[in-house]
Amino acid sequence: MTEPSYKGKRSHLIHGGIPRSTHMETSEAVYLTSGYVYANAEEAERAFAEERLRYVYSRYRNPTVETLEQRLAHYEGAACAHATASGMAAVFSSLMAQLQCGDRVVAPYALFGSCLFIVQTLLPQYGIETVLIDGTDYAQWRAALSRPTRAVLLETPTNPCLDLIDIAAVADLAHAAGARLIVDNVFATPVHQRPLSLGADIVVYSATKHIDGQGRCLGGVVLCDHAFSEILQPFLKHTGPALSPFNAWTMLKGLETLELRVHAATAGALDVARFLNSHERIAQVRYPGLPNHPQHALAQTQMTGGSTLIAFDLLGTKADAFRFMNALRLILISNNLGDAKSLITHPATTTHRRLSDTERARVGLSSTTLRLSVGLEEPADLIADLATALSV
Ligand SMILES: *Cc1c(COP(=O)(O)O)cnc(C)c1O
Repeated sequence: MTEPSYKGKRSHLIHGGIPRSTHMETSEAVYLTSGYVYANAEEAERAFAEERLRYVYSRYRNPTVETLEQRLAHYEGAACAHATASGMAAVFSSLMAQLQCGDRVVAPYALFGSCLFIVQTLLPQYGIETVLIDGTDYAQWRAALSRPTRAVLLETPTNPCLDLIDIAAVADLAHAAGARLIVDNVFATPVHQRPLSLGADIVVYSATKHIDGQGRCLGGVVLCDHAFSEILQPFLKHTGPALSPFNAWTMLKGLETLELRVHAATAGALDVARFLNSHERIAQVRYPGLPNHPQHALAQTQMTGGSTLIAFDLLGTKADAFRFMNALRLILISNNLGDAKSLITHPATTTHRRLSDTERARVGLSSTTLRLSVGLEEPADLIADLATALSV
């Protein structure tokens, strides 16, 4: 059968590279197999001599996982994609596959909790020098990248306070220092931000978030060029953070609706952000799509939408923040994000609990900061839920 023809990236998310079996199923089959069989010993010998020839073991390659990788690579405009068992496996592999003892890594303080653990605690244990800076201060980027560096890791918008970092500006500084720039693009999603087109070398996702989008499976992906793929592929193959074919299949189903879901949740998030911004019990709203975001201009050039996440500070104390959360009836308390269900978390006592007071202040996190992941409910219902809880 000939491949369907289309120009749009969204069409590719739905039709790209389906490995149809002899049954000619419409929906992708899931190749839930760890191994593959050979007709004879000679075929097995050939398969091991020339690995790209066919599938030999699902830790190396699997048809369902490869379909997911191909669709994501095409959508992001990357030469290569490597799926992993979680977002953290994607972040860790993209760093460890290229780092050696004596190397130097630069990253902002404002990182997803486990990413900060890797950079701040784990990498130094392997003799890797790590430099943490304020990612919104370009003087600090210039100073940190005035010395030879192997890798730069950043996320934008940041978790949980939704600060933005100028990817193109940091990419130039990183390249001048000899470093590869890795961008964790989870908060922006591939729908709203294309770091590779802004000069990043590697993009990582927690596919657990918007790519699955319905809170079911853990997964991750690293997008990169051929040169880095050659470095990453043996690392993944031999250390084994392989994505389950079942999870890959679930995420393939997620990709079919990725754009629709992200656009709908972003439109809802803008409505909710406007409501919060006008409420007298809210001290501050941080949403890149609102004109009062300190980097709204950068959001407009770097992103095509304002994110599905909102950070806001309540007036009052931690007890007021807890009372507000406990009064919500539709929005659920959960530290996950990118789900069809709207989820709220109090970062200072959950995801960012390990940070010291100074470290929390440095990323703009207070005892009343809340992070809201807007889902796919009617925005009016979310606003009604928030309004009721704010009146308690
Ligand atoms: C969730 C998340 C991760 C980690 O992904 P897992 O799939 O939970 O391992 C990394 N970075 C960001 C920004 C995230 O939101």
